[in-house]
Amino acid sequence: MKYHIKTYGCQMNHSDSERIAGVLEMAGYEKTAEESEADLIVINMCSVRKSAVDRIAGNFKKYKKYKINNPNFKTVITGCVLKSDRKRFEKLFDLVLDIKEIESLPERIKKCHCEGVKTTEAIPKLQFNEPNNEIATLYTVVRNDNSNYFHIQPQHQSKITAYVPIMTGCNNFCSYCVVPYTRGREKSRAVDEILNEIRKLIKSGYKEIILLGQNVNSYKPDKNTDFPKLLRLINNIPGNFWIRFLTSHPKDVTKELIKTVAKCDKCTEYIHLALQSGDDDILQKMNRKYTTEHFLNIVKMIRRYIPNCAITTDIIVGFPTETEKQFQNTIELMKKVKFDMVYINKYSPRAGTESYKMKDDVSWTEKKKWEVIANKILRETALENNQKYIGETIKILVEKVDDKFIYGKTRSFKNVKLELEIKNQELIINNGKFVKIKITQTDAWGLEGKMIK
Ligand code: SF4
Repeated sequence: MKYHIKTYGCQMNHSDSERIAGVLEMAGYEKTAEESEADLIVINMCSVRKSAVDRIAGNFKKYKKYKINNPNFKTVITGCVLKSDRKRFEKLFDLVLDIKEIESLPERIKKCHCEGVKTTEAIPKLQFNEPNNEIATLYTVVRNDNSNYFHIQPQHQSKITAYVPIMTGCNNFCSYCVVPYTRGREKSRAVDEILNEIRKLIKSGYKEIILLGQNVNSYKPDKNTDFPKLLRLINNIPGNFWIRFLTSHPKDVTKELIKTVAKCDKCTEYIHLALQSGDDDILQKMNRKYTTEHFLNIVKMIRRYIPNCAITTDIIVGFPTETEKQFQNTIELMKKVKFDMVYINKYSPRAGTESYKMKDDVSWTEKKKWEVIANKILRETALENNQKYIGETIKILVEKVDDKFIYGKTRSFKNVKLELEIKNQELIINNGKFVKIKITQTDAWGLEGKMIK
C-alpha cells in the first residue's frame, strides 16, 4: 500500500507530517511522490487562511476519480481543522482525525470500509470562540491529556536539518488566530524526550536542529525547566551543530533568553519575533498583549547582546478597523527595526475566532496596496542588512550541491549561493558540511560568495 501526504501551513505541520509518515511506514505503507499512485492520501491541513480550506475542498473531485479506479483508495484529513470546517470535511473524507491521534491512523483506516463513511468520533457541541469558556477549557484539557504523539519516530524529509517539536498548542488567543481552537492549549514536551531525540539526530549526522512550538518562550514542562534552560541543555550535547527555534511571542521574550542565545555557541544569530502590527490600538484589538514600545525594547536588547542577529517577523495588513495612519505606523516600525525578512499576510477572517465578529472593513484592494508598500520597505532594509556582509568571511552549512552551484545557509538564516569549483579536488564538498566562504555580492533575498582556499 502506498501513501502520499500533502502538507499545508507552518513548520509545525511539516514536522507533524514527518510523524504521520513514521506511523504509516511502521505499519508497512510505502511513500509515493505521485498522488495518483497512492492508496492513501493524508491531507495535513492549515486553517489559518480560508483559501487553503477552499482549495482542499476543491481538490476533492480528483480524489473521487481515484476512488473509482482504486476501490482501496482512502482519504484522511488531519492537522489544524476548525470545528466549522470539520463538518464539511466529514462529508468528503473517509476519516477526519485529530493530529494527536495519529498513532491510531493505520487501525482507523482499516475500519473505514465504505465510501463517504463518517468515522470521526462524536464532537461535543461546545462554543469554542470564547477564550474564557469553562467548558471549552475542560475539553481542551481532555484532548491534551490523552495524547502525546511526540514519541512517534518521525521520517525526516532532510538528512541535514531536523524539526524537533518541543510543545504544541497555544494559550494566547490572538483575536485572528485559530490555533488555540484547533490545537488546544499549550502542552510542553518532556525535556528528556527532546534531548534523547536530538542526541540521536546528531549521532546520525544532523547539523541543524530547529525547535518548534507556537510560542517556544512559554515552554514549561515542569517547575524547574524553562526555555532558556532547555537551550543550555541542548547546547551541551556534544557535536558540531546549530540550534534555531520558532516562533517567539514578544510578550514572553526575556533578557535571560537573549543572554542565553548570546552565550550558547550552538544557538544561531537568528530570531523570529512576530510583530503583526506597528500600531498599539491594532495590537490591542489583535489581543497581542504587548505594545510597540515593548517590541522595540526587545529589539534593542537583541542588538545589544547578539550584535549580528537577523530579526524576522510576521505582519498582518488590513486588520478590521485599520486605518491608513495605523498602517503607516507599521511601516515606520519596519523602518526602525530593519527586519531581515517579513512574512506579510493580508487579513482574512476565520470563523470561530474573536476577530470574525468584527467587520472586515478594509477592502482587498487596499490590503493588496499595503502589502506592496510593506514589501518595498522590506526589500530596502533586507538589502541594507545583507550589504554589510560584503567582504566578510563566514561559515555556512551546505544544503545542496548541483552541477554549477553550492547552496547553503548562514548562522543568521540567509540563503547563500556560490559557484562550484571542481578543478580543485579539495574543494569538492557535500551536503551537511560546514565551510568557510567570503561574501562577494548580495541582493535583498540572499548572499553570493567564493570558497576560501
Ligand atoms: S501566539 Fe497568537 S498567533 Fe501565535 S499561535 Fe498563539 S494565538 Fe495564534
